[in-house]
Amino acid sequence: MTHLPRTLVIVGAGFSGTAVAVNLLRLSYWRPARIVLIERAEYIARGVAYADKAYPYLLNVPAGRMSLNSSDPLEFLEFAQRRLPDATADDFLPRSLYGEYLETTRRDAELASPSHVQLIKIRGDVCSIERVGVKRSLRVELKDGSSFIADEVVLALGNPPPGHVPGTQPLLGSPRYISDPWSTPPEFKPGETALIIGTGLSMADTVIAGSDATRATGLTTERHAWPASVTFHAISRRGLVPPSQTAFRHAGCDDDGGKLLRAASLSARHLLRAVRELTDEVQARGGDWREAITCARNLAPAIWRRLPHRERQRFLRHARPYWDVHRHRLPQETLSKLHDLRRADKLHVHAGRILNFELVNEKVRVAWRARGNDSIQTLLVDRVINCTGADYNPNRSSDTLMRSLLALGLATPDPLRLGLRTANYGALLDSRNRIVPNLYYIGPMLRADHWECTAAQELRVHAERLAHHLAAPAVKPVFATRRAPEATSRSPTHSHAREQTLSIASALRDRPARTI
Ligand SMILES: Cc1cc2nc3c(=O)[nH]c(=O)nc-3n(C[C@H](O)[C@H](O)[C@H](O)COP(=O)(O)OP(=O)(O)OC[C@H]3O[C@@H](n4cnc5c(N)ncnc54)[C@H](O)[C@@H]3O)c2cc1C
Repeated sequence: MTHLPRTLVIVGAGFSGTAVAVNLLRLSYWRPARIVLIERAEYIARGVAYADKAYPYLLNVPAGRMSLNSSDPLEFLEFAQRRLPDATADDFLPRSLYGEYLETTRRDAELASPSHVQLIKIRGDVCSIERVGVKRSLRVELKDGSSFIADEVVLALGNPPPGHVPGTQPLLGSPRYISDPWSTPPEFKPGETALIIGTGLSMADTVIAGSDATRATGLTTERHAWPASVTFHAISRRGLVPPSQTAFRHAGCDDDGGKLLRAASLSARHLLRAVRELTDEVQARGGDWREAITCARNLAPAIWRRLPHRERQRFLRHARPYWDVHRHRLPQETLSKLHDLRRADKLHVHAGRILNFELVNEKVRVAWRARGNDSIQTLLVDRVINCTGADYNPNRSSDTLMRSLLALGLATPDPLRLGLRTANYGALLDSRNRIVPNLYYIGPMLRADHWECTAAQELRVHAERLAHHLAAPAVKPVFATRRAPEATSRSPTHSHAREQTLSIASALRDRPARTI
């Protein structure tokens, strides 16, 4: 028996893909392996959230909770303090600095990795994954036509774009409409009026970046002091804007959260009552309501598992917007800017429902109805931006890879269309609830099984567990007769690093993918 290098492919090198790769590189006990990290964007490790942007966006989470490593919670803070010596665990630091941290951590892990583990980075867009005959191997195909064989594949595809907003058909293709502000950052002109659909975190980012870009100096609260800057209208059904984050200290849940777990076994209504009671208890002893939300959030996977299917539906129908608005919070600095803009009449937040959009000359006419009011109102705006957040329903995805996985039965949407059906370690399940061998998913679509799964804090734990599972010595060795086509017979060493990068590239020689 020969221990040939195993080829483990990670599709997507944002936070999750990078976290899996870093964890794998840090494990010293597994047999020879090549980790192939494939990313379609320019950056390895940063993903959508932490890429360099024209505007210096801040993290939505304090530095003390953004470490990639759950056993070293201050790793990111210590990295940041090398640049910003005064930074504290409670500070909201720039997202681009966090991107740098991810890149540096990935590079350091690569340099320090055991000689029998090699990281190969490829710039490419994966469009399909297929099973190879009856074997457990998988063929990974890129949009440039190249393909290669993997022993295991981890899908770390990130947040899907926002969903289609009903009524926007007349705007599709118009420069007046931005359907995804993270793939096409809106450019505002001074004096414009813009409508933001959504009043959550993306609305806050878009409004603040747009306001700052169109005014010359600092903000004043006087009404007409900044006639040149953009006037924003933001609308959502309830008009709820996330509250501020604070430097509260989470002391853990009383009785290990037993009350919340018992309530979840009964119904969504019991669960809500239990969260409300917990909030009252925390506040009665002088604490911060955010402690109660954190308590529920930390227990979210266990709570979600206990909620019966019908109760999950009830939760989604009635309580989800309130959960989301308390769970996702804004840095105080960001919220203060929003308040200033509201006082200066540069931001108007509405609770209501949009009825239709119409392109009129160079403008968009928007008809909408305020919550609890029958009369129809209109707005004439220069731009409309969809900030409704990611649409996780896989059936509505237009992504080539996701469509192919669903068509081949390698991935299955969960019954509530929150994401994908998975087993332990994110192993994908097919439509008959069977594990798809050697194919794993990590990212926000784990919410189908774990509910809370979008933030670094949760994803890093999934990445650690998955890496340990993949590297476990119990994993079946690959025998020489089952050698993948591109495998070399030489054992990888660091001195061979370049040669081996080329050996993967040479497997793609006919139509090469770009290694980076
Ligand atoms: C704007 C924004 C700000 C955020 N801020 C915070 C924050 O402050 N704190 C926090 O905890 N969380 C934050 N989040 C939540 C975020 O979901 C996670 O922190 C984390 O970035 C998600 O990582 P991911 O790897 O799942 O997705 P991403 O980091 O987006 O990575 C997915 C990667 O996969 C690549 N990819 C997708 N499909 C393919 C394919 N077919 N072939 C090749 N490559 C592919 C994409 O190009 C992308 O780089 C933020 C999210 C957003 C959108």
